[in-house]
Amino acid sequence: MRGEHCHLIDEDGTRYLDFASGIAVNLLGHSHKGLIGAIQRQAETLMHVSNLYGSPQGEALASRLVEKTFADTVFFTNSGAEAVETAIKTARAYHQHAGNDEKFELITFKNAFHGRTMATISASNQEKMHKGFEPLLPGFRYVDFDDLEGAKAAIGPNTAGFLVEPIQGEGGIRPGSQDFIKGLRDLADAHDLMLVFDEVQCGVARTGTLYAYEQYDVQPDIMATAKGIGGGFPLGACLATEKAARGMTFGTHGSTYGGNPLAIAAGMAVLDAVANDDFLSEVRTKGERLRSRLEQFIGNYPDLFEEVRGKGLMLGMKMKCEPRPFMIHLRDHHQLLTVAAGDSTLRLLPPLVIGDAEMDEFFDKLSAGAASFEPERAA
Ligand SMILES: *Cc1c(COP(=O)(O)O)cnc(C)c1O
Repeated sequence: MRGEHCHLIDEDGTRYLDFASGIAVNLLGHSHKGLIGAIQRQAETLMHVSNLYGSPQGEALASRLVEKTFADTVFFTNSGAEAVETAIKTARAYHQHAGNDEKFELITFKNAFHGRTMATISASNQEKMHKGFEPLLPGFRYVDFDDLEGAKAAIGPNTAGFLVEPIQGEGGIRPGSQDFIKGLRDLADAHDLMLVFDEVQCGVARTGTLYAYEQYDVQPDIMATAKGIGGGFPLGACLATEKAARGMTFGTHGSTYGGNPLAIAAGMAVLDAVANDDFLSEVRTKGERLRSRLEQFIGNYPDLFEEVRGKGLMLGMKMKCEPRPFMIHLRDHHQLLTVAAGDSTLRLLPPLVIGDAEMDEFFDKLSAGAASFEPERAA
């Protein structure tokens, strides 16, 4: 298997149009010269060194993230789950640093996905991720997504903060409403709680702004980012304000590979490409075009599709049947790669560099796929 821009090519030479992007990872597509060159150059220079000796490259990437976001501090990880773990530790440490040891509980939201480590599965109510791995870690309380009153009612003496995906990814491309996200910020301010955003999937230009929170005009205290930030190389980060990170004093947390020079080189190349107004406004334009064509399209198949939702190039089609058989049908019969998600939703996560030709190809394949799909037969 190899990759070429927005396509994957298997051993037989069959070309697949990639609207999955390794689940929102390959945002520059598969053979981006800048990204490849950056990793090659770094591999020749220095592949790994302990962060005991400091890292000018890591500091440079951290500075850029600080400059482009709400954050004052950055801790690099190798994955999304580790970034969320760091965020959870940071939120707890904020309170414990001040002697409030009882404030350890994070309010999280139903059908969330935060990763596969013990803490991150404990942070989600999804039983399919718990089965076989119990007991869970204590310290999480689940509330319905987009239910501000529920979140408010869940606050108690043990609450440390909220952990939320501004746009649920795995849960079915569900954007939190403006009132919900803003309301969580207000509750956090009123009760001295940490507002933690998990932007592992919706972050890094995916929604047409560098981070999705910008579109809500609401800033978190702590944020996890990963997936797209390495463009295909494993990299994540936990960002925080100075105040939120007050408990994460020197030596309290660490990672051998986190901030590895190769990963940092990849992250730099990705930010070079995406963290500018031209690129971001293109993502918004492409996202709007894709969305309006999808909305027209689903009108032709009222029995199959219910609605289109999402932001930028993070879109979902809510289906009236299970999305998995349709995803497999598109893959096997029409060489189109998509991702099934919760809430009967088919995720569309193309590389952010798609052009008009790929967009047309997508609709050709999707139309042919929908016309030939028989939900009863597939199920
Ligand atoms: C994928 C994902 C994670 C976990 O990231 P990994 O790199 O798989 O550990 C966490 N949160 C969200 C929202 C994700 O989509």
